[in-house]
Amino acid sequence: MSTDFEKNIADAEALLNPFRKNTLGHFVDGKSTIGSSGKTFENVSPVNNESIGQVAAGDAQEVDAACKSAAAAFPAWKAMKGGERRKLLNNVADAIEARSRDISLVESLDTGQPIRFMGKAAIRGAANFRFFADRAPDARNGQALPQDEHINYTTRQPIGPVGVITPWNTPFMLSTWKIAPALAAGCTVVHKPAEFSPLSATMLAEICSEAGLPDGVLNLVNGKGESAGKSLTEHPDIKAIAFVGESRTGTMIQVQGAPTLKRVHFELGGKNPVIVFDDADLDRALDAAIFMIYSLNGERCTSSSRLLVQSTIYDEFVARVVERVNNLRVGHPLDPATEVGPMIHKSHFDKVCGYFDIAKTDGATIAAGGRESDVGGGAGNYLQPTLFTQARNDMRIAQEEIFGPVLTAIPFADEADAIEIANDIEYGLAGYLWTNDIGRGHRIAQALDAGMIWVNSENNRHLPAPFGGMKASGIGRDGGDYSFDFYMETKNICVALGTHRVPQLGKG
Ligand code: NAD
Repeated sequence: MSTDFEKNIADAEALLNPFRKNTLGHFVDGKSTIGSSGKTFENVSPVNNESIGQVAAGDAQEVDAACKSAAAAFPAWKAMKGGERRKLLNNVADAIEARSRDISLVESLDTGQPIRFMGKAAIRGAANFRFFADRAPDARNGQALPQDEHINYTTRQPIGPVGVITPWNTPFMLSTWKIAPALAAGCTVVHKPAEFSPLSATMLAEICSEAGLPDGVLNLVNGKGESAGKSLTEHPDIKAIAFVGESRTGTMIQVQGAPTLKRVHFELGGKNPVIVFDDADLDRALDAAIFMIYSLNGERCTSSSRLLVQSTIYDEFVARVVERVNNLRVGHPLDPATEVGPMIHKSHFDKVCGYFDIAKTDGATIAAGGRESDVGGGAGNYLQPTLFTQARNDMRIAQEEIFGPVLTAIPFADEADAIEIANDIEYGLAGYLWTNDIGRGHRIAQALDAGMIWVNSENNRHLPAPFGGMKASGIGRDGGDYSFDFYMETKNICVALGTHRVPQLGKG
């Protein structure tokens, strides 16, 4: 065990102690509370499936208290000058940076995500706050739309208290990606984090409060999706729901929110193609394809989980993938050397492992991995990074989101074939494309039905750029001004210049 690994374990254990000893509560109106339901659930660590504490299971009552707190805090937060909101949210960013190591250690043990990625994810959380903080003073800005005898101008105002519901794959970073723009826009928030990974959400709520956010501006209710999550989507004080999670959950939320006409923003599942042409820089394409499916344990919505390789180079390229996959370092998430950690939960581990049999039944070849890993002696949710070859696009391993370190390789003949295979899927989140033919790069980027396309790159992010998916991958876009469009209402104000003829009725 390296010294850094030992230190990570010791520091993480110290940080987890309070979570092990005390029931993790909600955070409502600036205070921790375990609520009135008295129900709890157990949080387990993916490294050994042992308990890391009890979590209060919020229900309709706890959600109602949090929503009322958000509604009460809304008028003052909305009225606060943008410059003051900017200052407070930059304070939050500073505090996240100062605690980024603690956040990443806790997040790694709670989710199984390797520390090498979680350190960066915590810093990105700070960047999300800073980015939207700096835009808070201009969030109301609109357009001037003059006519001959009138001037129209648009302005925006925050929509009201909003609900934010997040998944377990990179919980801290994703929560800040939704919560920071909502707060910068002038909305107050009720956050319901994923039940498999609740710890870092509490750290965020406490950090925000300590950084000076007024009570009730950010509230947190822990609990199950079907109770706490559902109640939040149904609550009449909540004007919009920002949701990140599975496509089928998105459908449920749309139904649940319909009676109260909730505005919804969905970032859902993906089964994203990475298309490699024979004229590409194959070394870079290989690095990127491997990174985009095996980083973050493959539990990543934008993972390049379908590898489409031109048939002229298929065998050669796939052989290079096999070599790299067999060489990936599976290990404890707090080991700085680890590249792939354990799956979030035993149930998810079973789901991912289930695809090994499905691949065989469907006639694909398991060219690498395809089994549990012996790391941790079987106590944790470790599996071998896996590559399926000889796959067709109609197989389940090519159509379904596996959400693990599992890649499905499919050959294609030419440009038209690549586009057809890439688009023949219910999802449309991201697409990656490797070619040195600039015209082809643009042609395929235009033809792919996905919200985000990367040409000769691997998921480079630019915070003002739109993030989101088409088809079953989502509704709406985040990033830059797109986020404010969701968290704010646009209002048109029309002012006469005093010269136009007003219609005159009843004058005979
Ligand atoms: P999930 O849909 O099971 O759960 C997400 C959240 O929704 C959790 O907090 C859960 O408690 C809650 N929830 C569940 N049922 C609910 C209901 N009926 N009403 C309200 N809330 C409910 O998703 P998951 O398994 O936690 O996360 C993995 C999924 O998230 C994958 O499909 C992945 O692609 C997706 N994801 C998408 C993006 C993106 O940006 N598109 C990013 C990360 C993850």
